[in-house]
Amino acid sequence: MNGLRVVVTGGAGFLGSYLCERLLDRGAEVICMDNFLTGSPRNVEHLIGRPAFRLLECDLTGFVHVPGQVDLVLHFASAASPVDYLRHPIETLKVGSIGTLHALGLAKEKGARFVLASTSEVYGDPLEHPQRESYWGNVNPVGPRSVYDEAKRFAESLTTAYRNSHGTDTGIVRIFNTYGPRMRPHDGRAIPTFIRQALTGEPITVAGDGSQTRSICYVADTVEGVLALAESDFEGPVNIGNPTEMSVIELAETIRRLAGSSSPVTFVERPVDDPAVRRPDASLAAERLGWRPRVDPVSGLRRTIAWFEEELGTADGSSYRAVVS
Ligand code: NAD
Repeated sequence: MNGLRVVVTGGAGFLGSYLCERLLDRGAEVICMDNFLTGSPRNVEHLIGRPAFRLLECDLTGFVHVPGQVDLVLHFASAASPVDYLRHPIETLKVGSIGTLHALGLAKEKGARFVLASTSEVYGDPLEHPQRESYWGNVNPVGPRSVYDEAKRFAESLTTAYRNSHGTDTGIVRIFNTYGPRMRPHDGRAIPTFIRQALTGEPITVAGDGSQTRSICYVADTVEGVLALAESDFEGPVNIGNPTEMSVIELAETIRRLAGSSSPVTFVERPVDDPAVRRPDASLAAERLGWRPRVDPVSGLRRTIAWFEEELGTADGSSYRAVVS
Protein backbone atom coordinates (compact mmCIF):
# COMPACT_ATOMS: atom_id res chain seq x y z
CA MET A 1 0.00 0.00 0.00
CA ASN A 2 3.08 2.22 0.28
CA GLY A 3 2.65 5.38 -1.79
CA LEU A 4 -0.88 4.53 -2.96
CA ARG A 5 -3.58 7.20 -2.83
CA VAL A 6 -6.72 5.62 -1.40
CA VAL A 7 -10.28 6.96 -1.07
CA VAL A 8 -12.31 5.40 1.76
CA THR A 9 -16.01 6.25 1.53
CA GLY A 10 -17.73 5.95 4.88
CA GLY A 11 -14.26 6.33 6.40
CA ALA A 12 -15.55 7.97 9.58
CA GLY A 13 -17.68 4.92 10.39
CA PHE A 14 -16.82 1.88 12.46
CA LEU A 15 -15.07 -0.26 9.81
CA GLY A 16 -13.97 2.70 7.69
CA SER A 17 -12.02 4.28 10.54
CA TYR A 18 -9.96 1.10 11.03
CA LEU A 19 -9.34 0.86 7.30
CA CYS A 20 -8.05 4.45 7.25
CA GLU A 21 -5.77 3.68 10.19
CA ARG A 22 -4.33 0.47 8.72
CA LEU A 23 -3.82 2.08 5.31
CA LEU A 24 -1.90 4.98 6.87
CA ASP A 25 0.20 2.49 8.86
CA ARG A 26 1.06 0.77 5.59
CA GLY A 27 2.25 3.99 3.98
CA ALA A 28 -0.81 4.97 1.93
CA GLU A 29 -2.25 8.44 1.54
CA VAL A 30 -5.89 8.34 2.67
CA ILE A 31 -8.81 10.50 1.66
CA CYS A 32 -11.72 9.75 3.98
CA MET A 33 -15.12 10.83 2.61
CA ASP A 34 -18.15 10.81 4.89
CA ASN A 35 -21.36 12.72 5.50
CA PHE A 36 -21.45 11.63 9.19
CA LEU A 37 -24.95 10.16 8.88
CA THR A 38 -24.05 7.25 11.17
CA GLY A 39 -20.33 7.87 11.59
CA SER A 40 -18.50 10.65 13.35
CA PRO A 41 -15.30 12.68 12.99
CA ARG A 42 -14.54 11.43 16.47
CA ASN A 43 -13.77 7.98 15.01
CA VAL A 44 -10.86 9.43 13.03
CA GLU A 45 -9.82 12.36 15.21
CA HIS A 46 -6.67 10.47 16.22
CA LEU A 47 -5.68 10.41 12.51
CA ILE A 48 -6.26 14.08 11.77
CA GLY A 49 -2.71 15.21 12.59
CA ARG A 50 -1.16 12.68 10.22
CA PRO A 51 0.05 14.42 7.03
CA ALA A 52 -1.13 11.60 4.74
CA PHE A 53 -4.70 11.78 6.06
CA ARG A 54 -7.48 14.00 4.75
CA LEU A 55 -11.08 14.04 5.99
CA LEU A 56 -13.68 15.38 3.55
CA GLU A 57 -17.29 15.93 4.52
CA CYS A 58 -19.15 14.69 1.45
CA ASP A 59 -22.47 13.05 0.64
CA LEU A 60 -21.73 10.30 -1.86
CA THR A 61 -25.18 10.67 -3.38
CA GLY A 62 -24.35 14.26 -4.41
CA PHE A 63 -21.47 15.58 -6.49
CA VAL A 64 -18.25 13.64 -5.91
CA HIS A 65 -14.89 14.93 -7.04
CA VAL A 66 -11.37 14.11 -5.94
CA PRO A 67 -8.55 16.06 -7.56
CA GLY A 68 -5.42 14.17 -8.62
CA GLN A 69 -4.52 10.54 -8.81
CA VAL A 70 -6.49 7.82 -7.01
CA ASP A 71 -5.24 4.22 -6.96
CA LEU A 72 -7.89 2.52 -4.86
CA VAL A 73 -11.48 3.25 -3.81
CA LEU A 74 -12.87 1.36 -0.81
CA HIS A 75 -16.61 1.95 -0.89
CA PHE A 76 -17.87 1.55 2.69
CA ALA A 77 -20.42 4.35 2.93
CA SER A 78 -23.81 3.00 4.04
CA ALA A 79 -25.80 2.78 7.22
CA ALA A 80 -25.20 -0.77 8.40
CA SER A 81 -27.06 -1.46 11.63
CA PRO A 82 -30.77 -2.30 11.50
CA VAL A 83 -31.62 0.63 13.79
CA ASP A 84 -29.76 3.00 11.44
CA TYR A 85 -31.08 1.74 8.15
CA LEU A 86 -34.65 1.51 9.40
CA ARG A 87 -34.32 5.11 10.59
CA HIS A 88 -32.80 6.15 7.22
CA PRO A 89 -34.41 3.85 4.66
CA ILE A 90 -34.27 6.17 1.63
CA GLU A 91 -30.72 7.37 2.43
CA THR A 92 -29.65 3.72 2.65
CA LEU A 93 -31.15 2.88 -0.74
CA LYS A 94 -29.64 6.05 -2.22
CA VAL A 95 -26.11 5.46 -0.97
CA GLY A 96 -26.26 1.80 -2.10
CA SER A 97 -27.41 2.82 -5.58
CA ILE A 98 -26.48 6.43 -6.45
CA GLY A 99 -23.57 6.51 -3.99
CA THR A 100 -22.17 3.30 -5.47
CA LEU A 101 -22.63 4.71 -8.98
CA HIS A 102 -20.61 7.78 -8.00
CA ALA A 103 -17.89 5.77 -6.25
CA LEU A 104 -17.60 3.48 -9.29
CA GLY A 105 -17.50 6.55 -11.56
CA LEU A 106 -14.60 7.90 -9.53
CA ALA A 107 -12.71 4.59 -9.81
CA LYS A 108 -13.37 4.43 -13.56
CA GLU A 109 -12.25 8.04 -14.13
CA LYS A 110 -9.03 7.49 -12.18
CA GLY A 111 -8.29 3.95 -13.39
CA ALA A 112 -8.37 2.86 -9.73
CA ARG A 113 -9.22 -0.49 -8.20
CA PHE A 114 -12.65 -0.47 -6.55
CA VAL A 115 -13.74 -2.58 -3.58
CA LEU A 116 -17.40 -2.77 -2.61
CA ALA A 117 -18.31 -3.46 1.01
CA SER A 118 -21.18 -5.87 0.52
CA THR A 119 -22.72 -7.95 3.26
CA SER A 120 -23.83 -11.39 4.35
CA GLU A 121 -27.31 -9.83 4.31
CA VAL A 122 -27.39 -10.45 0.54
CA TYR A 123 -28.04 -14.08 1.58
CA GLY A 124 -31.18 -12.95 3.47
CA ASP A 125 -32.76 -15.65 5.63
CA PRO A 126 -30.63 -18.37 4.03
CA LEU A 127 -31.87 -21.73 2.83
CA GLU A 128 -28.29 -22.94 2.44
CA HIS A 129 -25.98 -23.33 5.44
CA PRO A 130 -23.19 -22.35 5.76
CA GLN A 131 -23.38 -19.64 3.13
CA ARG A 132 -21.07 -20.01 0.15
CA GLU A 133 -20.52 -17.23 -2.38
CA SER A 134 -22.37 -19.30 -4.98
CA TYR A 135 -25.63 -19.07 -2.98
CA TRP A 136 -28.06 -16.49 -4.43
CA GLY A 137 -29.89 -15.74 -1.20
CA ASN A 138 -33.41 -15.54 0.14
CA VAL A 139 -34.35 -11.87 0.50
CA ASN A 140 -37.83 -10.40 0.88
CA PRO A 141 -37.75 -7.45 -1.55
CA VAL A 142 -40.53 -5.56 0.27
CA GLY A 143 -39.69 -6.41 3.88
CA PRO A 144 -38.32 -3.71 6.20
CA ARG A 145 -34.73 -5.00 5.86
CA SER A 146 -34.90 -4.83 2.07
CA VAL A 147 -33.74 -1.19 2.10
CA TYR A 148 -30.33 -2.49 3.12
CA ASP A 149 -30.27 -5.97 1.59
CA GLU A 150 -31.55 -4.93 -1.83
CA ALA A 151 -29.36 -1.81 -1.91
CA LYS A 152 -26.35 -4.06 -1.43
CA ARG A 153 -27.58 -6.56 -4.01
CA PHE A 154 -28.04 -3.70 -6.48
CA ALA A 155 -24.57 -2.39 -5.58
CA GLU A 156 -23.07 -5.83 -6.33
CA SER A 157 -24.87 -5.89 -9.67
CA LEU A 158 -23.70 -2.37 -10.57
CA THR A 159 -20.12 -3.20 -9.60
CA THR A 160 -20.24 -6.28 -11.84
CA ALA A 161 -21.67 -4.22 -14.72
CA TYR A 162 -18.81 -1.69 -14.42
CA ARG A 163 -16.33 -4.52 -14.52
CA ASN A 164 -17.92 -6.15 -17.55
CA SER A 165 -18.84 -3.02 -19.50
CA HIS A 166 -16.06 -0.58 -18.59
CA GLY A 167 -13.26 -2.92 -17.55
CA THR A 168 -13.08 -1.30 -14.09
CA ASP A 169 -10.90 -3.35 -11.74
CA THR A 170 -13.42 -4.32 -9.06
CA GLY A 171 -13.69 -6.59 -6.04
CA ILE A 172 -16.73 -7.44 -3.92
CA VAL A 173 -16.40 -8.45 -0.27
CA ARG A 174 -19.35 -9.91 1.60
CA ILE A 175 -18.69 -8.98 5.21
CA PHE A 176 -20.27 -11.02 8.02
CA ASN A 177 -21.14 -9.56 11.46
CA THR A 178 -18.10 -7.66 12.63
CA TYR A 179 -17.63 -6.21 16.10
CA GLY A 180 -15.06 -4.36 18.14
CA PRO A 181 -14.19 -1.08 19.84
CA ARG A 182 -15.74 2.07 18.31
CA MET A 183 -19.17 0.54 17.79
CA ARG A 184 -21.81 2.87 19.15
CA PRO A 185 -23.46 1.60 22.35
CA HIS A 186 -26.87 2.46 20.92
CA ASP A 187 -26.42 1.35 17.31
CA GLY A 188 -28.86 -1.51 17.87
CA ARG A 189 -26.59 -4.38 16.83
CA ALA A 190 -26.60 -7.34 19.21
CA ILE A 191 -23.03 -7.10 20.52
CA PRO A 192 -22.91 -3.40 21.50
CA THR A 193 -26.43 -3.69 22.90
CA PHE A 194 -25.63 -6.74 25.03
CA ILE A 195 -22.34 -5.23 26.25
CA ARG A 196 -23.98 -1.92 27.14
CA GLN A 197 -26.78 -3.73 28.98
CA ALA A 198 -24.37 -6.06 30.78
CA LEU A 199 -22.14 -3.19 31.93
CA THR A 200 -24.93 -0.97 33.12
CA GLY A 201 -26.96 -3.66 34.86
CA GLU A 202 -29.92 -3.38 32.47
CA PRO A 203 -31.67 -6.57 31.35
CA ILE A 204 -29.98 -8.18 28.33
CA THR A 205 -32.63 -8.26 25.60
CA VAL A 206 -32.43 -11.36 23.43
CA ALA A 207 -34.67 -11.43 20.34
CA GLY A 208 -37.07 -14.37 20.03
CA ASP A 209 -35.95 -17.45 21.95
CA GLY A 210 -32.31 -16.71 21.10
CA SER A 211 -31.84 -19.95 19.12
CA GLN A 212 -31.01 -18.05 15.92
CA THR A 213 -27.30 -18.21 15.17
CA ARG A 214 -24.64 -15.65 14.28
CA SER A 215 -20.95 -15.89 13.45
CA ILE A 216 -19.01 -12.92 14.71
CA CYS A 217 -15.70 -11.61 13.39
CA TYR A 218 -13.35 -9.29 15.27
CA VAL A 219 -12.75 -6.00 13.46
CA ALA A 220 -8.97 -6.45 13.06
CA ASP A 221 -9.59 -9.71 11.19
CA THR A 222 -12.24 -8.21 8.92
CA VAL A 223 -10.01 -5.26 8.05
CA GLU A 224 -7.12 -7.61 7.14
CA GLY A 225 -9.47 -9.55 4.87
CA VAL A 226 -10.70 -6.41 3.14
CA LEU A 227 -7.14 -5.17 2.58
CA ALA A 228 -6.08 -8.59 1.26
CA LEU A 229 -8.86 -8.35 -1.33
CA ALA A 230 -7.90 -4.75 -2.13
CA GLU A 231 -4.30 -5.79 -2.77
CA SER A 232 -5.29 -8.71 -4.99
CA ASP A 233 -6.88 -8.60 -8.42
CA PHE A 234 -9.67 -10.96 -7.34
CA GLU A 235 -13.17 -9.91 -8.33
CA GLY A 236 -15.02 -11.95 -5.73
CA PRO A 237 -17.56 -11.92 -4.33
CA VAL A 238 -15.70 -13.30 -1.35
CA ASN A 239 -16.99 -13.93 2.18
CA ILE A 240 -15.01 -12.38 5.02
CA GLY A 241 -16.26 -13.71 8.33
CA ASN A 242 -15.39 -15.96 11.23
CA PRO A 243 -17.09 -19.36 10.83
CA THR A 244 -17.37 -19.94 14.61
CA GLU A 245 -21.15 -20.07 14.94
CA MET A 246 -23.11 -19.50 18.13
CA SER A 247 -26.71 -18.94 19.10
CA VAL A 248 -27.73 -15.45 20.16
CA ILE A 249 -28.55 -16.70 23.65
CA GLU A 250 -25.06 -18.18 23.88
CA LEU A 251 -23.63 -14.84 22.78
CA ALA A 252 -25.65 -13.01 25.44
CA GLU A 253 -24.55 -15.45 28.15
CA THR A 254 -20.89 -15.20 27.06
CA ILE A 255 -20.95 -11.40 27.20
CA ARG A 256 -22.68 -11.47 30.55
CA ARG A 257 -20.02 -13.81 31.95
CA LEU A 258 -17.06 -11.92 30.47
CA ALA A 259 -18.43 -8.60 31.74
CA GLY A 260 -18.92 -10.07 35.23
CA SER A 261 -22.51 -8.85 35.05
CA SER A 262 -25.56 -9.89 36.99
CA SER A 263 -28.00 -8.46 34.41
CA PRO A 264 -30.93 -10.78 33.82
CA VAL A 265 -31.53 -12.09 30.29
CA THR A 266 -34.97 -11.19 28.96
CA PHE A 267 -36.68 -11.99 25.67
CA VAL A 268 -38.11 -9.47 23.23
CA GLU A 269 -39.93 -9.80 19.92
CA ARG A 270 -37.84 -11.03 17.02
CA PRO A 271 -37.50 -8.45 14.18
CA VAL A 272 -39.32 -9.17 10.90
CA ASP A 273 -37.25 -11.33 8.48
CA ASP A 274 -34.47 -11.78 11.06
CA PRO A 275 -32.21 -14.55 9.64
CA ALA A 276 -32.48 -17.87 11.50
CA VAL A 277 -28.89 -18.87 10.82
CA ARG A 278 -25.71 -17.16 9.67
CA ARG A 279 -22.29 -18.72 9.06
CA PRO A 280 -19.79 -18.00 6.34
CA ASP A 281 -18.03 -20.63 4.34
CA ALA A 282 -14.69 -18.81 4.42
CA SER A 283 -12.75 -21.29 2.28
CA LEU A 284 -12.65 -19.04 -0.80
CA ALA A 285 -10.99 -16.24 1.21
CA ALA A 286 -8.40 -18.74 2.49
CA GLU A 287 -7.73 -20.11 -0.98
CA ARG A 288 -7.64 -16.86 -2.97
CA LEU A 289 -6.45 -14.34 -0.38
CA GLY A 290 -4.63 -16.51 2.15
CA TRP A 291 -6.95 -14.98 4.77
CA ARG A 292 -8.14 -16.64 7.95
CA PRO A 293 -9.63 -15.05 11.06
CA ARG A 294 -7.19 -15.14 13.97
CA VAL A 295 -9.06 -13.66 16.93
CA ASP A 296 -11.38 -16.09 18.72
CA PRO A 297 -14.71 -14.69 19.94
CA VAL A 298 -13.79 -14.74 23.65
CA SER A 299 -10.59 -12.71 23.13
CA GLY A 300 -12.34 -10.30 20.78
CA LEU A 301 -15.26 -9.83 23.15
CA ARG A 302 -12.90 -9.23 26.08
CA ARG A 303 -11.17 -6.41 24.16
CA THR A 304 -14.49 -4.94 23.11
CA ILE A 305 -15.93 -5.07 26.62
CA ALA A 306 -12.80 -3.33 27.97
CA TRP A 307 -13.28 -0.52 25.44
CA PHE A 308 -16.98 -0.15 26.28
CA GLU A 309 -16.11 0.06 29.98
CA GLU A 310 -14.02 3.13 29.21
CA GLU A 311 -16.59 4.56 26.83
CA LEU A 312 -19.49 4.12 29.23
CA GLY A 313 -17.49 5.19 32.25
CA THR A 314 -18.15 1.90 33.99
CA ALA A 315 -14.50 0.83 34.19
CA ASP A 316 -14.15 2.05 37.77
CA GLY A 317 -17.58 0.88 38.77
CA SER A 318 -19.00 4.40 38.47
CA SER A 319 -22.44 4.81 37.01
CA TYR A 320 -23.34 5.05 33.35
CA ARG A 321 -22.89 8.51 31.95
CA ALA A 322 -24.52 9.90 28.82
CA VAL A 323 -22.88 8.49 25.74
CA VAL A 324 -22.46 9.91 22.28
CA SER A 325 -24.89 8.27 19.92
P1 NAD B 1 -21.11 2.67 10.04
O1 NAD B 1 -22.51 3.14 10.05
O2 NAD B 1 -20.30 2.80 11.26
O3 NAD B 1 -20.30 3.35 8.86
C1 NAD B 1 -20.89 3.76 7.65
C2 NAD B 1 -20.36 5.14 7.30
O4 NAD B 1 -20.94 5.57 6.05
C3 NAD B 1 -20.75 6.19 8.34
O5 NAD B 1 -19.60 6.91 8.75
C4 NAD B 1 -21.75 7.07 7.61
O6 NAD B 1 -21.77 8.39 8.09
C5 NAD B 1 -21.27 6.94 6.18
N1 NAD B 1 -22.29 7.27 5.18
C6 NAD B 1 -23.57 6.83 5.10
N2 NAD B 1 -24.20 7.38 4.06
C7 NAD B 1 -23.29 8.18 3.43
C8 NAD B 1 -23.35 9.03 2.30
N3 NAD B 1 -24.46 9.18 1.56
N4 NAD B 1 -22.23 9.72 1.94
C9 NAD B 1 -21.08 9.61 2.67
N5 NAD B 1 -20.98 8.82 3.76
C10 NAD B 1 -22.07 8.12 4.14
O7 NAD B 1 -21.17 1.13 9.58
P2 NAD B 1 -20.03 0.03 9.50
O8 NAD B 1 -20.40 -1.07 10.39
O9 NAD B 1 -18.70 0.63 9.64
O10 NAD B 1 -20.21 -0.49 8.01
C11 NAD B 1 -19.39 0.02 6.96
C12 NAD B 1 -19.70 -0.72 5.66
O11 NAD B 1 -19.45 -2.12 5.82
C13 NAD B 1 -21.15 -0.57 5.22
O12 NAD B 1 -21.17 -0.45 3.81
C14 NAD B 1 -21.77 -1.88 5.64
O13 NAD B 1 -22.84 -2.24 4.82
C15 NAD B 1 -20.61 -2.86 5.50
N6 NAD B 1 -20.77 -4.02 6.38
C16 NAD B 1 -20.55 -3.90 7.72
C17 NAD B 1 -20.74 -4.99 8.55
C18 NAD B 1 -20.47 -4.95 10.02
O14 NAD B 1 -20.69 -5.96 10.69
N7 NAD B 1 -20.01 -3.87 10.59
C19 NAD B 1 -21.21 -6.21 8.00
C20 NAD B 1 -21.46 -6.26 6.64
C21 NAD B 1 -21.22 -5.17 5.84
